Amino acid sequence: MTTQQWFDERHDYAGSSIGFRVTQRLHAEQTPFQNIEIWDSTDWGKLMVIDSCMMVTTRDNFFYHEMMSHPALFTHPRARRVVIIGGGDCGTLREVLKHDEVESAVQVEIDERVTRLAEQYFPELCESNNDPRAQLLFIDGIKWMAECEPESLDIVIVDSTDPIGPAEGLFNETFYRSCLKALRHGGILVQQSESPLAHLPLLKDIRKAMKGAGFQAMRTLTFPQPCYPTGWWSATLARKGVDLSDFRERGAEMKQFATQYYNAEIHKAALAMPEFLKAALED
Ligand code: SAM
Repeated sequence: MTTQQWFDERHDYAGSSIGFRVTQRLHAEQTPFQNIEIWDSTDWGKLMVIDSCMMVTTRDNFFYHEMMSHPALFTHPRARRVVIIGGGDCGTLREVLKHDEVESAVQVEIDERVTRLAEQYFPELCESNNDPRAQLLFIDGIKWMAECEPESLDIVIVDSTDPIGPAEGLFNETFYRSCLKALRHGGILVQQSESPLAHLPLLKDIRKAMKGAGFQAMRTLTFPQPCYPTGWWSATLARKGVDLSDFRERGAEMKQFATQYYNAEIHKAALAMPEFLKAALED
C-alpha cells in the first residue's frame, strides 16, 4: 500500500505498476506455501493477492480463465480427461466443465487455503466445484504429474503463479516431460506464459523447455489481462504428435454455453502473432 486507498503492485523489472482503489483488507494469512491477501475494492470487486502479486479480481478474471481453457478445448477433437495444475481459485475448472465432452477434470492445487478463500470470496468461480466430474486434490502438481499414468490425459492446463517458490518447477523441461508422458497422442499442454512485453525471455525459455521435452507444435496466444503486469498476457499451447494449426472453429461458433470474452473470432485473433513476437519466438 502506498497510500491509504490504493493497492499498488510495483513491477520494477518493467518500470511500471498497476493500482487498484481498495476499501478494506478482508483477510490476510501466511500458509505453509505463500502469503494470501483478500481485498475489497471500489471498482474491481474482490482481489486475491499471493505473495504481493495480483492473482484474480472479480471484474477481469474472465479474460484469463477463458483463454486458459477454451482455445485448447476447441482445438482438441474430444477432450475427455483434463487436469489443471494450480488454479486454486477454481475459475479455470469452471470454464473446463462448461464442455460436455469433458468426463473428468482434476484440479491439483498445492495450497488448499487458496481454494477455501476462493469459495468464500469468489463463490461464482467455485460454482462447478460440486460437479460430479470435478475432483479437487491438494498436493504438489510436480509430484502428481511425475507419477501420473502414461497416456491417460487429453489436456493439461498449468494455471500457476509466477515461476518462483512452489511454482518454480512448473516451468522447466523435466516437468514438461512428465506432461508429455501423461498426455495421449494429440494431447495439449497449456501453460500460462506471462506477459509477452515484460517477460519475453521467460516466454522464450518456456517454449525452449517444451520443445526440449519433445512437444512437436507450439502456439502462443495473447490476450488482455488488465490486472497483470503490463495488462497483456499469454498462454502457450504445446501439442503431442499433432500440429496446432487448426481449431474447431464451427464448434466454437456453435458453443452451447456463455462466455464473456472467448468466441471463434477471438480465438482466430489470438492466434495472430505481432511482428516483434514472431521474430522473437521463431524456433
Ligand atoms: N491466474 C494466476 C496468475 O497467473 O497470476 C494464477 C492463479 S492460481 C491462484 C495459481 C496457483 O498455483 C496458486 O494457488 C498456487 O498455490 C498454485 N501452485 C503454485 N505452485 C504449485 C505446485 N507446485 N503445484 C500445484 N499448485 C501450485
